[in-house]
Amino acid sequence: FIQNRIRNFSIIAHIDHGKSTLADRLIEKTGMLASREIKSQVLDNMELERERGITIKLKAVRLVYKAKDGNEYILNLIDTPGHVDFNYEVSRSLAACEGAVLVVDSTQGIEAQTLANVYLALEQDLEILPVINKIDLPSARPDEVKKEIEEIIGIDCENAPLISAKEGINIDDVLEDIIQNVPAPIGDPNAPLKALIFDSYYDSYKGVVCYIRVFEGVIKPGMIIRMVSTGKTFEVTEVGINTNRHIPFESLGAGEVGYVTASIKNVKEARVGDTITDDDNPTDEPLPGYKKVIPMVYCGIYPAEGEDFNSVREALEKLQVNDASFVFEPETSVALGFGFRCGFLGLLHMEITQERLEREFDLNIITTAPSVIYRVTKTSGEVLEIQNPTNLPDSSEISFIEEPIVSASIMTPTEYVGAIMELCQNKRGTFLNMEYLEEKRVVLHYDMPLNEVIYDFFDALKSKTRGYASLDYELKGYKESRLVKLDILINGELVDAFSLIVHEDKAYERGRRIAERLVDVIPRHQFAVPIQAAIGSKIIARETIRALRKDVLAKCYGGDISRKKKLLEKQKEGKKRMRQIGSVDVPNEAFLTVLKYD
Ligand code: GDP
Ligand code: MG
Repeated sequence: FIQNRIRNFSIIAHIDHGKSTLADRLIEKTGMLASREIKSQVLDNMELERERGITIKLKAVRLVYKAKDGNEYILNLIDTPGHVDFNYEVSRSLAACEGAVLVVDSTQGIEAQTLANVYLALEQDLEILPVINKIDLPSARPDEVKKEIEEIIGIDCENAPLISAKEGINIDDVLEDIIQNVPAPIGDPNAPLKALIFDSYYDSYKGVVCYIRVFEGVIKPGMIIRMVSTGKTFEVTEVGINTNRHIPFESLGAGEVGYVTASIKNVKEARVGDTITDDDNPTDEPLPGYKKVIPMVYCGIYPAEGEDFNSVREALEKLQVNDASFVFEPETSVALGFGFRCGFLGLLHMEITQERLEREFDLNIITTAPSVIYRVTKTSGEVLEIQNPTNLPDSSEISFIEEPIVSASIMTPTEYVGAIMELCQNKRGTFLNMEYLEEKRVVLHYDMPLNEVIYDFFDALKSKTRGYASLDYELKGYKESRLVKLDILINGELVDAFSLIVHEDKAYERGRRIAERLVDVIPRHQFAVPIQAAIGSKIIARETIRALRKDVLAKCYGGDISRKKKLLEKQKEGKKRMRQIGSVDVPNEAFLTVLKYD
């Protein structure tokens, strides 16, 4: 291979600006294999893979483009996730590239995630190539949007391609732009091996498949490689590139992007951001930026009524093999029985995992409210880490409680500064400073309790700024705080799965809202059901679900039979997703209502 014919790049964009559509067009416009690669045993391998029905995660795809200069170029397109929970993964994917195509919708202009992504790309010193999309739409205003990009981001847009990804207009301009302006990789193929893992996943046939960018040296089958962060060694079984399938190669050298397998059993052994080196001849300079990501948010996951505990455990085990940042351990709840305490990077990660359990594994689960890790110092001097509110010791045994604080940066147009400051104040934020990016755009820096950020902060921020503000945060440390355990009692019974740790000043309001919500979601019974919120033995809020009037069915008696049938079916359907607590049927969704509180 020739290094200067390689271009490694990502596409970055605000959601819906056309990243996926452009990627599809680029794939269509190019070939998957260079002419000289199509021979050899490549095809046999593809056959084998087809037989096994292996599905390959399209994390990095290699394209071959015959440019106007007559040369064939290899383009490695690396995909990035698009949410603050996964910012670290985004930054590692970008670290594998020399350039980023920045797609901006010409009917919308720059938006929050556009900027957040641009900053991540600039941190990696990437060449940023602006592309103005959706020019086919009548409301397109490409000239204004170009000016906006020049002013806010400060990159020249004079030659930015004006495209329609949907209609396939000017896609060649993007390809030529990449060839001409994304720098070719540099790196010594004779130096000790140095490769970055920017993604990894578990495959039941091959074990863990690592997507890598080789920076120096060469990697090939038979080599003993070492993961720098853990010192663990593995023998390489296969290296190759990814087109729409895995294609094994003899080796991958400096500048190349591809995959490597080495009988690795768990993604925890091949973490994103880690450096792979040669065990016999290790690099003395691993790649910078490795971070072991740790869960920040915990919740309980329980089998819903009629669901099998072991099925849930097996599903969680399977998910964990593929997700290095997800952790779980068994726990029990008085209300919900046997289940698991699970840890996630953030709320989105938690929601995605729940959804996968329900969709991919077809499980019926109950999720309890998310919690952060609190540090509790007892009067005895013992220090506990509490991630389940139920485990909080009695207040008489607690000397003090500390909560995690994050340093948050919020990027916003100046017109929303007032609204954001009010919101942050409300969420117990401490204002640090405000920085002007340019005349109409600022970054606000706050210290915020993580406990407040994981509730509805992101949604509130979006709605108060019409989606224009973007949020980024990282753990800063722990801080002492006046926190209490808020309990919910249904029909006089404490339901541990509803318990929350909240700031003392917010307990009353939170308790009242949850009680109000529960009244809405818990169906009426033959008897009145009181809902109470309490701190210790003190009741701070109370609502009542009135008893069911006995004539609900009688009402349609004699009338429309099909309506009566429907009503009964609806009740039955509802029952399935209920959980019996004492003598009260509580729908699964009730456990999520403690989450939403606006
Ligand atoms: P992503 O979220 O950035 O990956 O955006 P998608 O590629 O999924 O595109 C979002 C929506 O915009 C889809 O409905 C696309 O069909 C549409 N879209 C993308 N590019 C164009 C374009 O050039 N013109 C028009 N009219 N629609 C487009
Ligand atoms: Mg997309």
